[in-house]
Amino acid sequence: MSKETPSAPPPPYQYVPPQAPPSYAQAVGGVPPSSPFTPQQRVLAVQQVVTTVVPIGHNSTHMICPSCHAEINSDVKKTPGLIAYVSGLLIALFGCWLGCCLIPCCIDECMDVHHYCPNCKSYLGRHTK
Ligand SMILES: [Zn+2]
Repeated sequence: MSKETPSAPPPPYQYVPPQAPPSYAQAVGGVPPSSPFTPQQRVLAVQQVVTTVVPIGHNSTHMICPSCHAEINSDVKKTPGLIAYVSGLLIALFGCWLGCCLIPCCIDECMDVHHYCPNCKSYLGRHTK
């Protein structure tokens, strides 16, 4: 009689892979540092919008219409300009709010002058003080 105890099965070999330390990019969570840094370049094109060829003044101007190329005396329309609104606001702040703030809107010097072609009715430009 042999007392041969059946050998216990060997414990399953558990292989635990060594934990590799996370790389810098993984730890930070950003882009890998191998990618080149490309700064965005924004080129701002400077555009000057030329509305009229002929300098226009405060009154009707004799000129060549850029739209219909006719020789015209421009029609003028006067509207209160920014100065009129600002000075009107200032007057209102200083207490003269009983209609006095409307005075700058009646002063010719404070008006924006819009020029139109009487021939083709196209907008020619604006003259501001
Ligand atoms: Zn015209």
